[in-house]
Amino acid sequence: MSNTVEGNVALVTGASSGIGQATALALSKAGYRVAVGARRADRLRALTQDAPGEMLALDLDVTDRRSVQDAVSATVKRFGALDVLVNNAGVMLNGPILNADLTQWTRMVETNLLGSMYAVHASLPHLLESKGAVVQVSSTSGRTASAVSGVYSATKFGINAFSEALRQEVTAQGVRVVVVEPGFVATELTSHNTDPAMQAAAKAMAASMRTLQPEDIASAVLYAITQPEHVAVNEILIRPTDQT
Ligand code: NDP
Repeated sequence: MSNTVEGNVALVTGASSGIGQATALALSKAGYRVAVGARRADRLRALTQDAPGEMLALDLDVTDRRSVQDAVSATVKRFGALDVLVNNAGVMLNGPILNADLTQWTRMVETNLLGSMYAVHASLPHLLESKGAVVQVSSTSGRTASAVSGVYSATKFGINAFSEALRQEVTAQGVRVVVVEPGFVATELTSHNTDPAMQAAAKAMAASMRTLQPEDIASAVLYAITQPEHVAVNEILIRPTDQT
């Protein structure tokens, strides 16, 4: 990856809302050519229209290996390279372990953990070629587990473990691995949980603090990937000041 950002190519998964959308816009503003993937094509279309630079919208379901491979191939076909993968797509369907709906566990593991691994697998040959970077959007839940977030935390601990192994495998070849661990960010993430108790808890938590905004995480991502090539920012833990 060249030190000049201009024209470098990024692929952002889960770019139809929240952190992914803000990161895609920040990268576009900084001069990256950006491919954005998610399932909600209408949102991606609107994003490409708002983007200051060249942006490619891709239908992407990270739980589908073929879809992930196709998104990476389409990015490289359009832009000729891949310098940065922002592995961001994720869902959080919190709830107690007792009597949990197992389809929600499967969805979290397939999206957050396996989906993110598929994206690394498909992107890595290109990132080795460009000496690029992988940004893994983990969470404070990847460092500390707590009640009702057992499976979500397990996926984020898994991302951190996978990222450290990946780092050891590719750092000598110039590929940098960045784990970003946000605390509470105001996004749609908690709205997908249909359990009224979980929704109420999320609302109460949001009301109790000045939450982070998606742009705060986008700034952290941009900081990490624009350091000189000999500097690897491996981990960024970023919480709202008010979050204990
Ligand atoms: P959002 O719900 O706003 O964004 C989630 C994104 O993931 C959406 O763009 C969604 O797109 C995408 N997504 C979900 N499932 C899939 C799928 N199967 N294939 C492709 N894309 C998918 O929440 P956030 O922006 O908050 O979440 C982004 C990441 O940040 C997640 O990994 C989350 O765990 C992490 N995070 C968030 C925190 C927070 O407090 N908000 C804190 C710590 C980490 P679509 O539905 O269109 O496919």
